[in-house]
Amino acid sequence: MKLPFKKHILLFLLLLLNVTVNCQIVEAKDSSVIVLEKSLKEKLTEYLPDSTAKKILKKDFNKVKDSTITNLELEAKRIIFKLPTYSKIQNSYTVQEVPNPKKSGGTGYVSDPNDYISTTDEQKLNTLIWKIEQHTTAQIAIVILPSIGSEVPKDFAVKLFKAWQIGQADTDNGLLILTVMDQRRTELETGYGLEPILTDAICYRIGKQEIVPHFKRGNYGKGLIAAVEKVKVFLENPEATKEIYSNGVTYNKASLRERMGVWYYILFGYLLLSVIFSLVYFGLIFDIDKSINDYHAKYVRLEKYKVGCLMILIPLPFIFLYMLIKRRLKKYRFAPRYSRVNGKIMHLKDEWAENKFLEKAQILEEKLKSVAYDVWVTEDESDVLILEYKGTNLKYTNCKECGYKTFGKTKTKVITTATYNRSGKRIVHYKCRNCNYKEEKTEVIPQKTYSSGSSSSSGGGSSSFGGSSSFGGGSSGGGGAGVSW
Ligand SMILES: [Zn+2]
Repeated sequence: MKLPFKKHILLFLLLLLNVTVNCQIVEAKDSSVIVLEKSLKEKLTEYLPDSTAKKILKKDFNKVKDSTITNLELEAKRIIFKLPTYSKIQNSYTVQEVPNPKKSGGTGYVSDPNDYISTTDEQKLNTLIWKIEQHTTAQIAIVILPSIGSEVPKDFAVKLFKAWQIGQADTDNGLLILTVMDQRRTELETGYGLEPILTDAICYRIGKQEIVPHFKRGNYGKGLIAAVEKVKVFLENPEATKEIYSNGVTYNKASLRERMGVWYYILFGYLLLSVIFSLVYFGLIFDIDKSINDYHAKYVRLEKYKVGCLMILIPLPFIFLYMLIKRRLKKYRFAPRYSRVNGKIMHLKDEWAENKFLEKAQILEEKLKSVAYDVWVTEDESDVLILEYKGTNLKYTNCKECGYKTFGKTKTKVITTATYNRSGKRIVHYKCRNCNYKEEKTEVIPQKTYSSGSSSSSGGGSSSFGGSSSFGGGSSGGGGAGVSW
């Protein structure tokens, strides 16, 4: 590879000399520049990545374009003289091959082996990052590589971050800004300690706003300086600085409140409310148990404090309360009872045996499930206690005539149907299943209304960033975000 390369240089030098000797300086300047530039570009692209070749032409050649052809010639010679060193330039890097700026006594923070950034910009970056480290102890590494082969930049960033151990060991406050030229991608990889400040969203924003616009124009140094300056603003905010120094409990609390915003207070209020409600309920349950003597009376009182909707609103304590109330109710209903008359123990009769002690209407109520009866009887049947509990069927109400819970709807007759223009009318028939007492009620059927159109379809488009799976953290190396440019 080396030998033919040198031959090319010689040939090229001869060509250059030929051009300059044969052409008159003033007349042939334009055409000779074009020829020179074209041949130079061809040579350069043969040995160098396209981007580097363009850069050399732009930086080293174009600046002397307007000067004399002699200067041009000298410049071309200078570039060609430099070529052998360029030819050694590696095009693809593995994690181990990336030159570590800290290795062998280095003090910089930038690894730019293929010189995408100018020396001035690199110096600016180093100074800027050094200042940030002095102020906050946070460490930033900048890496800009022509290629990493087929590796995913995000994964590469995670591995490189781990290999170099960017950031202080105790606070883990490192940031790696890795740029992979051929994939046109820049990853901002944060250590755990910086994640609360440089959140994935912030990293993504820095990438989009500072890096992408400059990189698109080939101003890699400027883009990186702008990005690091933005990082500096975030890191040197006094609140943020405190967090990097003390990686303790306090920052979690603060950041939780900050991150949740209004929801933090809603959650707080909700928890407080559930505690208050639970205490009130415990008080009630306790009070019913202590202040009332009779089991049946306890049962009826406690039954009123059903937790229903509260269990949905405040599930955690109320599932427990629901279980407690259920257990208490069972206890109150089935606890052994003693006769008030003679103190003898009473026995609960089963559904069949209890009918002997119930009235016909009560048996009907049980059949309709509008009321449940428990019948307690002493062994010698000297005392009978009939206790009434709510039934499961709520369709029946107490009859105006006989008083039993056997009064209910039998049929409904529509007289006029409702339309979109007017309301309708119907007659509802009620009857007592016990005494046959009847009632009729005329009801108005409400006018029909048009249902409020088709439900507006909710915008289905997801609004997550970009769609590239490499956005957002979740990787072992912590958070961060990447941008393509
Ligand atoms: Zn009746």
